[in-house]
Amino acid sequence: NADAAMYHAKSSGRNSFKFYTSDLNARAREILAIESQLRFALDRNEFLLHYQPQVEMASGRIVGAEALIRWNHPTLGMLGPARFIEVAEERGFIVQIGNWVIAEACAQIARWKSLGLPQIGLAINLSALQFRQKDLTANLEEALSRNGLSGDSLDIEVTESVVMEDAEATVDTIERMKAMGAQLSIDDFGTGYSSLSYLKRFKADKLKIDRSFVQDIPSDLDDTAIARAIINMAQNLNMKVVAEGVETVEQWNFLAAEGCDLVQGYLLAKPLPAEEFTALLARGILLPPDAL
Ligand code: C2E
Ligand code: MG
Ligand code: MG
Ligand code: MG
Repeated sequence: NADAAMYHAKSSGRNSFKFYTSDLNARAREILAIESQLRFALDRNEFLLHYQPQVEMASGRIVGAEALIRWNHPTLGMLGPARFIEVAEERGFIVQIGNWVIAEACAQIARWKSLGLPQIGLAINLSALQFRQKDLTANLEEALSRNGLSGDSLDIEVTESVVMEDAEATVDTIERMKAMGAQLSIDDFGTGYSSLSYLKRFKADKLKIDRSFVQDIPSDLDDTAIARAIINMAQNLNMKVVAEGVETVEQWNFLAAEGCDLVQGYLLAKPLPAEEFTALLARGILLPPDAL
C-alpha cells in the first residue's frame, strides 16, 4: 500500500516506531482502524489523561505533573499518543482533541483543589497546529475560569519548533499565555533546533532535557556533556531544568550533583491514571530509594 509506505517514510521522528516490510501491513491496518475511529472518539468519550509527577530533586516534593493523553480505542485497546497523534494532526482532529485536553486538565486541577491537595502546576502538551488557532488563548481562559482557576495552574509545553516559528500569531499567543500567569516549558530540548537568542526572548520558565540525552548518562560522555551544558545554560538564563525519562538512580545522582531542578521519569513513577496520581499527590513526597 503506497500511502502507508509514504506515511511510514515520513514518520521516522522520535515518536514513531521503526517499521519493517513485514510489519507494514499490520501498521497499515492499524492506521485504518485509527483513522476510521478518530472522528468518533471525542463523542464516545474515549480519551483520557494520565499524569506523571515532576519532583523537585532537592526536596522530593511533587511540584508538578504532566498530562499525557491516552485513547481507549474500541478494537485496539489503550493507545499511547505515538500511535495516533500524528494521524490526528494530519487529519486536523488535533485541535478539537487539544481543546478536550485543555478542558479535562483544568477540570482535574479543580478536583485536586477541592480535595485540598498540594497545589501543583499541571503541564499540557500543545501541538504546533493548536498555536495557529486564533482562539487558543480564549479557550485556555475559558477553561480556567469555568473551573475557578488562575493561569498559574498551567504549564504549557511546546517544542523548539513552535518557539522558533517566528509567526506574529505565535509570539502573541505565547505572550498572552504568560500574561495569564501560565508557565512556559520547552519540551524535548536539544532535539530540535533553536537559537539561544529565542530562548532569551521568550523567557521560557523551564527547559525539559530530552530523554535521549538522559538515557545513557553518566556512562556516555557526550550525552553527559550535553546534559551538563543544558543545565548550566538554563541556570544562567534563570530557567528551571526538568530531566525527562529518568529511569536509574545513577542518572538521578548525576543530575542532582549537576544541579538539575526537577525530574520526571519511570524511576519515580510512570504516567498514572487520575485516581492513582491523586493518591501519590496526597503523600506529596516521592524520592528514589537509593538516592545519595
Ligand atoms: P513528551 O511530551 O516528551 O512526554 C514524555 C513522554 O516520555 C511520555 O510518553 C512519557 O510517558 C514518556 N516517559 C516519561 N518518563 C519516561 C521514562 O523514564 N522512560 C521512558 N521510556 N519514557 C518515559 P507518551 O505518554 O507516550 O507521550 C509521547 C508524546 O506524545 C509526548 O512526548 C508528547 O509529545 C505527545 N503527547 C502526549 N500527550 C499529548 C497531548 O495531550 N497533546 C499533544 N499534542 N501531544 C501529546
Ligand atoms: Mg511534554
Ligand atoms: Mg518531552
Ligand atoms: Mg518526547
